[in-house]
Amino acid sequence: MARQVRAKKHLGQHFLNDESIAMDIVKGLTSHRNYDKVLEIGPGMGVLTKYLLDNKQYETNVIDIDTESITYLNKTFPQLEGKIISGDFLKMNLEERLGENYAIIGNFPYNISSQIFFKVLDDRAKVPEIVCMLQKEVAERLASPPGNKSYGILSVLLQAYYKIEYLFTVEPEKFNPPPKVRSGVIRLKRNDVASLDCDEKLFRRVVKQGFQNRRKTLRNSLKPLNLPEEVQEMELLNKRAEQLSVNDFVGLSQDITKWSK
Ligand code: SAH
Repeated sequence: MARQVRAKKHLGQHFLNDESIAMDIVKGLTSHRNYDKVLEIGPGMGVLTKYLLDNKQYETNVIDIDTESITYLNKTFPQLEGKIISGDFLKMNLEERLGENYAIIGNFPYNISSQIFFKVLDDRAKVPEIVCMLQKEVAERLASPPGNKSYGILSVLLQAYYKIEYLFTVEPEKFNPPPKVRSGVIRLKRNDVASLDCDEKLFRRVVKQGFQNRRKTLRNSLKPLNLPEEVQEMELLNKRAEQLSVNDFVGLSQDITKWSK
């Protein structure tokens, strides 16, 4: 057997040590929209990978930034030959390898989970389903409905394209070494529409700006965008960003476009 990988803190390495939880995470994949490839981000020592390999419906690919993990995976999973990518997911262009339709799974390195999601958002047309473990607080935030304190930028941007379900919580002692926080597993299934009924760049800008100052009304927080007078007068701008649904933000973006002409 290959030598165990030493857990490196700066890479967010906390190895899951519970097989039934690993199985449940992998079972979270539902083949939503029939992908034939799966990319696992941060396989570490492959606790999820081995269950992914049991499933013949899809081809498993993995990417890890840690060369020690890569060596371990190469030794332990000969059947993964050619499917193990050594590198930083955030910097990698994976199009050639993965094609146009693949799912993402992983016990994400918690320190970069938001960055992972911003990258996934850019690639959303190719990624119909994601199952992942995150810091519980972040998992809840992403799945949170409007009106909730934890509802934020990534909740809106991701919910615009994905239906997000909170699946279950995992306690720190299920990892080696245990993280300081509890963990949560979520599933994201992409909606029918891969694009919104508005200027999507503007939508992103409005959402980001709106949440810059959560306590302020949108009329105030959106000041830097110099919205047309007609929009500034709208009732909706008395609300705060956290009170708006995805559809409210889409509607607002449409109105901004309409009155900017
Ligand atoms: N899936 C394993 C390991 C989770 S720890 C388990 O559940 O036990 C997170 C993993 O992500 C580590 O293996 C770490 O090396 C890897 N990782 C950290 N930053 C990364 C990055 N930028 N790109 C790819 N992998 C990364």
